[in-house]
Amino acid sequence: MSSYSRELEAALEAVREASLVCRRVQRELAGAALQKEDKSPVTVADFASQAIVCRVLAERCSGDPIIGEETASDLLSEERRPFLDQVVSQLQEVAPGATREAVCGWIDAGLGESAGRFWTLDPIDGTKGFLRGEQYAVSLALIVDGQIQVSVLGCPNLSVEAGGSAAGAVFSAVRGEGAWVRALDDMSAPARGVKVSDVSEASAIRICESVESGHSAHGRSATIASLLGTTAPAVRLDSQAKYAVVARGEADVYLRLPTRPGYREKIWDHAGGVLVVEEAGGRVTDIEGRALEFIHGRELTANRGVVVTNGRLHAAVLDAVARTAEST
Ligand code: AMP
Ligand code: MG
Repeated sequence: MSSYSRELEAALEAVREASLVCRRVQRELAGAALQKEDKSPVTVADFASQAIVCRVLAERCSGDPIIGEETASDLLSEERRPFLDQVVSQLQEVAPGATREAVCGWIDAGLGESAGRFWTLDPIDGTKGFLRGEQYAVSLALIVDGQIQVSVLGCPNLSVEAGGSAAGAVFSAVRGEGAWVRALDDMSAPARGVKVSDVSEASAIRICESVESGHSAHGRSATIASLLGTTAPAVRLDSQAKYAVVARGEADVYLRLPTRPGYREKIWDHAGGVLVVEEAGGRVTDIEGRALEFIHGRELTANRGVVVTNGRLHAAVLDAVARTAEST
């Protein structure tokens, strides 16, 4: 039996419940967003998802710190009261009788500090995709002494099988035990193993990247693709769904190339996806080939950008990245 089976079960349950609420909110309330201080958008579903995941972890893994993206302080002003009440009514679907205080308490359970052992959560990664009705992910990972040990990635708008039509996939991984996918609507059915592609010919590669040009340098990735000898345009999708498509061999490479010098990647934007790809047989480093270091708090301060591949292509892709200038 896995040494992390209890944590995996808790994470699967938390991400399943959160993903179902996100899916419902995306259908009902598309377009309703607030702006955070950093000008990024946030929706009812971001807060509801964080509250749900933290609530499940508090019940099933009490005492573990959680570093989540959201904070209830963004909900406390009088003018935001109606928005908070929408979050509370979403929570009441899974926790009948939940009060404003309880919901804010669950959200703020995500204000933990990094420690030897902690969870990191992006309650909705790719909020911009969520608002466009496109891809987004609920990403949860357990980090122990700097190593990601368990991760679960809920992708409510991604097909369960590559190219399939049924949407709603939940990917998971435990270090040393492989990567798996389940259908969000049928989590009790047996999970299927997930493997990266075996493409080794650089000219045949399929690259994916962010939809948002502010999150990854699109011009530079096009230059890298042509250096590798491929003419196919990169497939653009939001969120850590990019890690999922590389993990299951639908794409061979995910490039995240810095768009400005001072930006540091956030741990919750990567931890969930990284272990799924690694356990599917792929590799993840930063653009200079360094391992991602999850030991510096909320940000990957020792890293720049991210390069994800099926493993076989990693050296060739890093070489092409090194041959391109940062500003292209
Ligand atoms: P994606 O859906 O891959 O475009 O990634 C969404 C994530 O990009 C959000 O969760 C943000 O935390 C993150 N983000 C915001 N600004 C930047 C930036 N300048 N560079 C890279 N990532 C960013
Ligand atoms: Mg995010």
